[in-house]
Amino acid sequence: MSWIDEKAHAGLAQTRQAREEQVYPYYKEFETGGLRTTIGGRPVVNFSSNDYLGLTNHPKVKEASIKAVERYACGLSSSRVQATTAEHVALEKRLAKWFGFEECLLFTTGYQAMLGTIVSLADKDTTLVLDSYSHACILDGSFLAAGVPGRSPEIRFFNHNSSKSLERILKTRERKNALVIVEGVYSLDGDRAHIKEFVEICERYDAPIIVDDAHGTGTLGKRGTGILEEQGLQGKVPVVISTFSKTFGGIGGILLGTTEVVEHIKHFARSFLFSAALPVPVVAAASTILDMLEDNGPALVAELHQKAAYMREKLTGAGFDLGLSNTHIMPVMCRDDRKALFMHMALLECGIFMVPVVYPGVKQGEQRLRLNVTRGHTQEDMDTALEYLKSYGEAFFVLSGEDLGPME
Ligand code: PMP
Repeated sequence: MSWIDEKAHAGLAQTRQAREEQVYPYYKEFETGGLRTTIGGRPVVNFSSNDYLGLTNHPKVKEASIKAVERYACGLSSSRVQATTAEHVALEKRLAKWFGFEECLLFTTGYQAMLGTIVSLADKDTTLVLDSYSHACILDGSFLAAGVPGRSPEIRFFNHNSSKSLERILKTRERKNALVIVEGVYSLDGDRAHIKEFVEICERYDAPIIVDDAHGTGTLGKRGTGILEEQGLQGKVPVVISTFSKTFGGIGGILLGTTEVVEHIKHFARSFLFSAALPVPVVAAASTILDMLEDNGPALVAELHQKAAYMREKLTGAGFDLGLSNTHIMPVMCRDDRKALFMHMALLECGIFMVPVVYPGVKQGEQRLRLNVTRGHTQEDMDTALEYLKSYGEAFFVLSGEDLGPME
């Protein structure tokens, strides 16, 4: 008896073959933390990192974590219900203030924060209205909610970032309530949600909107608090979800909302109640990064924007297609599995790490390299990456768009 189906078998065979041919691009083992690391002893600069402000490896951040390990160790051996610390509560208060919300609740991951929030808020009277490019945590949270006996909300999708399509669904929904969920910045495509229009439409149709701002946190708005700050929408969105796994240097989910909503989720979300508390060393790291953002946020964000603008100008000037991107997340569109894989391998040989995203991770024709500019990249890092991207972009017909043809 096999545990897996035929399709999965075919996938595994493909993976095995790629490993044998040494072209398997995933699960590469980093030998240190940081943007500059080694893989198999070879130095690489990571251009697929989400450490957007380059603060994760700051000595002060590490120092705070080490101190917290000494006092609290790496885990509390319980969920938050049984094991909340003063550090958790203090950081929740500070984050609520910094983001401009009444209340904050720290989950163990952003993924769990989204799952718990959707399941807590959506019931049989709800239509969940999702962007067609939604992150896995939004999809999984919605599917989970739909499977909860007696609650089962309806799920409907609108075309990516389309106000018209969103409005059509809100207008024609059959359930009494609607809950709209969007991302501030789309993680693979690097485009911002058309959030101003969405907020206006949601107000008109009396539908609350949740924004997952995992990639906008630390990168958008003058102070770096995200897309709502950038678009002047603070106070207009009732719930925001974010994460410590990008700008905040660790792991952890951030839920922001009114006291009523957060209190409800705190006592209802099973992904919060039945999973271990966020370790205090991680809380300490995030807290130290928050100090830095409070003291110096605008300068840190401005530096990221300046680097992202430089990279964007050079990449588009060289003829690269960056898809929908209008942020620091700049997918280098290859539109072919082999082109993306070959680019990844050639760049890796030259010490540049960019993860290929291939089918079925993205649709056919949308294969790309994941290129994220961060504040931690130096001028030299960017120029070196650009040089190699141009050479191999020509060699593998990424720039010309010609067919790669059969290869021996
Ligand atoms: N939302 C988005 C848009 C993300 O990109 C991610 C992480 N890739 C998450 C949520 C999940 O966050 P975490 O890593 O904290 O689970």
